[in-house]
Amino acid sequence: MARRRQLYEGKAKILFEGPEPGTLVQYFKDDATAFNAQKKGVITGKGVLNNRISEFIMLRLHEIGVPTHFVRRLNMREQLIREVEIIPLEVVVRNVAAGSLSTRLGIAEGTPLPRSIVEYYYKNDALGDPLVAEEHITAFGWASVQDLDDIMALSLRINDFLTGLFLGVGIRLVDFKLEFGRLWENDEMRIVVADEISPDSCRLWDIKTGEKLDKDRFRRDLGRVEEAYQEVARRLGILPEAGARDLKGPETMQ
Ligand code: UDP
Repeated sequence: MARRRQLYEGKAKILFEGPEPGTLVQYFKDDATAFNAQKKGVITGKGVLNNRISEFIMLRLHEIGVPTHFVRRLNMREQLIREVEIIPLEVVVRNVAAGSLSTRLGIAEGTPLPRSIVEYYYKNDALGDPLVAEEHITAFGWASVQDLDDIMALSLRINDFLTGLFLGVGIRLVDFKLEFGRLWENDEMRIVVADEISPDSCRLWDIKTGEKLDKDRFRRDLGRVEEAYQEVARRLGILPEAGARDLKGPETMQ
């Protein structure tokens, strides 16, 4: 088959032209970056796992009526997605203090937040994705007030749902990052979840031990990075010990 035309290469993914208009192919690489790409590395097998984990989560979101760009997985590292107009925001939802929130506000990592907090960062590598307020977003036209209403409602709904989903497999959803896009159908515009949802974009801690099962293992040189991603996939029932044919559902933890 002729190689598809590459449209964009990001830090962890490549986007190719899709087989039909309005579609793209999202390819998951093993490359990992942190601290605005100052730290670079490879996590062997990460792309394969994130492709599967993100597929699983997008499908579960679809089932509860949350619209996403996901169409279907094509192979080990690729998925077919709808082409959307990306809103240049990283939307972070937090349940427990960690990472930049702990550093910025001096709140010890692991402190439960009094309520879920939604933050917006302006997607701009040159500026290091700065934290912005609704005022900046609407004043500069990155998103409208209506877009932000939709984004906030979807983000909180996704947070409630994913918190429960991960809790069911013994994982605490500390925080995560979402991206959204505008999907045009005839003259109607809908805001849909885009990008990926995976251990690259979530903080996931084991409920019992507090062990980190996400990209912080790479950021903080904790070791056993691949194993952590595999563990998330295994608990979600995506990566069966007995091989790819033996797929079962999520494993409920007591
Ligand atoms: N995050 C992400 N991409 C980014 C920045 C953050 O996926 O460019 C995720 C990160 O994995 C974490 C959450 O968003 O789950 C909050 O990240 P934080 O603001 O604490 O930044 P960090 O500590 O990663 O610099």
